Amino acid sequence: MFAFSLLPRLLAGHLLQAPADPAAEVRHLLLDSRRVGLPAGALFFALRGPSHDGHRYLPALYAQGVRLFIVEAAHELPGGLSAYPGAGIMAVPSSLAALQALAAAHRATFAGPVLAITGSNGKTIVKEWLAQLLSPDEDICRSPRSYNSQVGVPLSVWELNPARHTLGIFEAGISEVGEMARLAEVIKPTEGIFTNLGTAHDAGFASHEQKLREKLKLFQGPQLQRLFYCYDQPLVRAAVAELQLPGFSWTRQPDQPADVYFAAVTSADGPTRWRARTANDTHEFTLPFADEPSVENALHCLAVLLHRGVEPAELQRRLTRLHPVAMRLEMKLGRHDSYLLDDTYNNDLAGLSLALNALARQPRPGRRTLILSDVLESGLGSAELYAQVAALLPAAGITRLIGIGEEISQLGVKSEGLRVAALEAAESEPQLSTQFFPSTEAFLAQLNPANFAREVVLIKGARRFGFERIVAALQAQQHGTVLEVNLDALSHNLQHYRRQLRPGTRLMVMVKAFAYGAGSYEVASLLEFQRADYLAVAYADEGIALREAGISLPIMVMNPAPDSFDLLRHYRLEPEIYSFEMLDEYLATFRTLDETAPPAPRIHLKLDTGMRRLGFDEADLPALLARLRTHAAHLPVASAMTHLAAADDPAHDDFTQAQLAAFRRMAAALEEALGHPVIKHALNSAGILRFPDAHFDMVRLGIGLYGVDASGRDTDALRPVSELRTTISQIKTLPAGHTVGYGRRGVAADVARRIATLAIGYADGYDRRFGNGAGMVLIRGQRAPLIGSVCMDMCMVDVTSIPDARAGDVAVVFGEGLPLPELAGRIGTIAYELLTNVSERVKRVFVSE
Ligand SMILES: *Cc1c(COP(=O)(O)O)cnc(C)c1O
Repeated sequence: MFAFSLLPRLLAGHLLQAPADPAAEVRHLLLDSRRVGLPAGALFFALRGPSHDGHRYLPALYAQGVRLFIVEAAHELPGGLSAYPGAGIMAVPSSLAALQALAAAHRATFAGPVLAITGSNGKTIVKEWLAQLLSPDEDICRSPRSYNSQVGVPLSVWELNPARHTLGIFEAGISEVGEMARLAEVIKPTEGIFTNLGTAHDAGFASHEQKLREKLKLFQGPQLQRLFYCYDQPLVRAAVAELQLPGFSWTRQPDQPADVYFAAVTSADGPTRWRARTANDTHEFTLPFADEPSVENALHCLAVLLHRGVEPAELQRRLTRLHPVAMRLEMKLGRHDSYLLDDTYNNDLAGLSLALNALARQPRPGRRTLILSDVLESGLGSAELYAQVAALLPAAGITRLIGIGEEISQLGVKSEGLRVAALEAAESEPQLSTQFFPSTEAFLAQLNPANFAREVVLIKGARRFGFERIVAALQAQQHGTVLEVNLDALSHNLQHYRRQLRPGTRLMVMVKAFAYGAGSYEVASLLEFQRADYLAVAYADEGIALREAGISLPIMVMNPAPDSFDLLRHYRLEPEIYSFEMLDEYLATFRTLDETAPPAPRIHLKLDTGMRRLGFDEADLPALLARLRTHAAHLPVASAMTHLAAADDPAHDDFTQAQLAAFRRMAAALEEALGHPVIKHALNSAGILRFPDAHFDMVRLGIGLYGVDASGRDTDALRPVSELRTTISQIKTLPAGHTVGYGRRGVAADVARRIATLAIGYADGYDRRFGNGAGMVLIRGQRAPLIGSVCMDMCMVDVTSIPDARAGDVAVVFGEGLPLPELAGRIGTIAYELLTNVSERVKRVFVSE
């Protein structure tokens, strides 16, 4: 905690206005106007990003009671200083640097050890496991989930409490040169772990070595006492030696000069025994995991605990209890139109607060219920703990709390403590109803899923409460096929395209065709959160569905039926106008509106520069301009647009340049006729990357957001968003000469084959052209070719070469390891078609870290 009055000196800032309360203290750091939990003591940092400006939200924050602000300049304050009476406001050259400096000053008040983790993979899991393994000895402050960025690290470090914690564990991740040095200043680690150096090409770095050098900057402060790393990574080993870092290394190769040698005693499936040889001793341990990434992560942890001298029998006891880290918050469709946020892994305060933030972001209407277990590991007394819990609820719109567990139900029943605290926190009259159950069983015994109809339900419980049983009871039935949509990958891809844009260029995102099959509402909701500027859909119905689900971004409708114009106005949807007939219809509908009616929707004029599909031709221009001049008052033109016929194909670049030139001419003439500028936009995903000079005022991002690189230039920079997977229903052995399926088209030619039947067919959108060897799926990491024809609800694959394949196994139909463009190529189509074909009967599951 720091007094606000200290900040100008501490952060080298310039005080614009002193707070009404001269002793005001900073208790929480706030970066997002949608996440105001407790306004008292919150200090807001107005951060600026490529397409985001925190200054815009000052009035909203002030209205919510926030009184302490850090801004980048006085003239950035909407409404001027006088709009914020009583607030403390300070200007700094960079809000981000100020946030980091404040966290660094806070870090300096903590005298205990701080361990920092970086590397390409495994940071979050190593951090979580170390916290599990060390929790009997230490009171640990750690980053929530994967808060490892330029803003995540300061927020995490701010949570260090010198009066309580005995150890800090923070992860640090970077994407550009220069970032790590800043994080090192904030964390100032006394110990470190370098997990590994991945092989993936990283956009922000010139080379592998540069990336490594940059990451190691985390460990170059004089306070560092120990760096744990794997000796078997030659680049890492060489760099640690060259920089003379105080290393502690482990190896899996015999006869290496590392501090610990780990040798696998058995290598069969299942729990694996490892022998650990240090300078003094040899001990054997059983790890509860056998897959390679988990083994590597666990060996890092083992090295740390061996170095700390934890007694081997005790160490084994803790290892045995180690459990997998569920990294993701899953969003699932529930029964009776409910919507579930499933977060049943841990339940501490930081995790709860993150989950509530995710809930707060859901614009979906409907009552919000929190099903919450006892909150663990807080180190607070239960009255204080649940007062803090209650204070978090109003901001997420929770109107019903179901508490499960001895502790929470005692408190709730005895004193209505939660209810009272929540009332105080909200100050107004929140309609919070509460129910308490001593155990999950007691809750399940009386559960009626209809009581949650049309609600948004956050299910948040520590592992031992087994809340997955509650999720199973509330979840809509699934047949074995799901499309998993990774919202973090979507955000990642969005940022990738954003980085290509000049500041101020707007971003329209195409969510037509059910957001390319990914689920329009969830994608739109994420885009709203990520502050996209516009959405676009093909038909009015799609736009109406988004509005009804609570999406408020501007939405363009590309092909509205003229008789839907009145509906468009009602739902604030903006039509694309591509012909004189439509223009006249629009005028006929809206010209005679009386003053009290809501305003007519803004329009987007489509210009045909060579696609020859929809739009006004250049030859139509004189007539169009005449109409615009005559009716300017009744034609609120928002934008002028064109669409390229071959943005992805260098062979047609001359044609593309001619299209862009025509667009420039036509748009200029339009603006002159209208007497005002309009938003001009021409580029789709491929165009954004290939024609940086033609971004104009806005671009229209489509397939790239969904992880497919249509330009062929940036494949490595995008993350796949969707994974379609199904399960094996049955496995049969097909003797030589026998046939499979309809028309007997699959034949086991000369030897017996093992055939797996999968629960997916063309009615799920799985293309029939994949039949008879054209397609393949991924089972246990190996490819299995289709055999026979694809049926309506099933298909068959040959798993002869995957002897351990079993009924119930997952088969990946497309996703990581089975990229869409490759599959599309095999049947002569494009990734767009495979994505948008996934039928609506396939359940969508949305995951995020
Ligand atoms: C679908 C669409 C886009 C997006 O195209 P991608 O290739 O998916 O990026 C852009 N503009 C218009 C008019 C579209 O119909």
